[in-house]
Amino acid sequence: PPDVDQLGRSTWTLLHTMTANYPERPSPTQQSETRQFLSLFGKMYPCWVCADDFRAWVKEGNEPRVSNREEFGRWMCEAHNAVNVKLGKSSFDCNRWEERWRTGWKD
Ligand code: FAD
Repeated sequence: PPDVDQLGRSTWTLLHTMTANYPERPSPTQQSETRQFLSLFGKMYPCWVCADDFRAWVKEGNEPRVSNREEFGRWMCEAHNAVNVKLGKSSFDCNRWEERWRTGWKD
């Protein structure tokens, strides 16, 4: 079985890096394909409790916001924070998602 922590760190790197490279003005097709990716991700992520909880969180009024990079980056940050809270970790300040994953820390 996969190491859930190792898998998680790698996967968050992929997911946040995808938001950091998402267009500022995505086409309708790009938005639709992003929603499809996230829907399939929620079915195929190979930590089944993680995937089940992710899908449940999305259904609880957290449908992916993919209208532009800023929205998508914040949505992903909130998705990650939902897991942080569940695991008893501290929440990440989502005002800083882009600094962490795109532009780099200033300090
Ligand atoms: P991680 O949480 O992996 O974070 C990596 C880095 O991301 C951090 O060092 C920090 O710099 C940055 N970061 C932290 N929070 C945010 C944020 N909100 N926004 C942007 N950047 C941030 N593990 C379980 O045990 N049970 C689960 O149910 C579970 N569900 C998961 C669901 C998904 C969709 C994913 C991708 C992972 C899940 N995990 C789950 C794994 C878990 O989230 C962590 O990856 C794992 O516990 C390792 O944590 P970590 O403390 O090393 O840092």
